[in-house]
Amino acid sequence: MTPRTILAIGAHIGDMDLAAGPVLAQNALDGGRSVLLALTPGERGHPTMPVADYQQQKIAEARAFAAAINAEAIVYEDLSDGFLQCTEPNAARLARDIRQIQPQLILAHWKHSIHTDHEQAALLAERARFLAGLPGWEEDPEAGAHGRRHGTEQLSYTENWEDAEGYTADSYVPIGGQARQIWHQAISGQAFARGETYGFRYIDYYDAQLTTRGCLAGVPAAVGLAQAEPPLREL
Ligand SMILES: [Zn+2]
Repeated sequence: MTPRTILAIGAHIGDMDLAAGPVLAQNALDGGRSVLLALTPGERGHPTMPVADYQQQKIAEARAFAAAINAEAIVYEDLSDGFLQCTEPNAARLARDIRQIQPQLILAHWKHSIHTDHEQAALLAERARFLAGLPGWEEDPEAGAHGRRHGTEQLSYTENWEDAEGYTADSYVPIGGQARQIWHQAISGQAFARGETYGFRYIDYYDAQLTTRGCLAGVPAAVGLAQAEPPLREL
């Protein structure tokens, strides 16, 4: 994949780290800019730890993960896990960040999920992408990047086991051995991914998915994606 500026927008810390992390790591290795944005910390994801304590742990894990894959981390610490809504203020906030970051590619949740936060995050990513590119919306030539509209060329949905209903990957990004190793090491720093909260083997699942998609794509490892606007292809 040509290096570019990629913004991955997840509902909780960890979502895009798993589903998009290998792409972000590969992009950074290739000289691109990778940004990881969590709309909430995911602070209610631990069955026994106090929410405030787990929130701090999650934020520390997000920063460590981003540093390890040479990406930037943004966390909306004031939005709450379990209560994410695609409101206009939330979409506008995200749109302002899109204008600052100026991505060529947004990676987002698929629109159907067993978790409502993920569905709302999908709506937020699409609404914010729309607002960021909208002529006349908060445009101010003297406000720097904030004030200039930014059209993001591409939005792709990531392959997340919680967002599987109706999801079909239609494209892939090859992941090299070095990026895979960097991602694996980085994601091992997150307690939930290691199975320490509810026991799901996240790292095994997503590592195996890299292999499975690689088999289908004819490369050693790959991340599958679904395009928001598939191009018309001539038969
Ligand atoms: Zn999540």
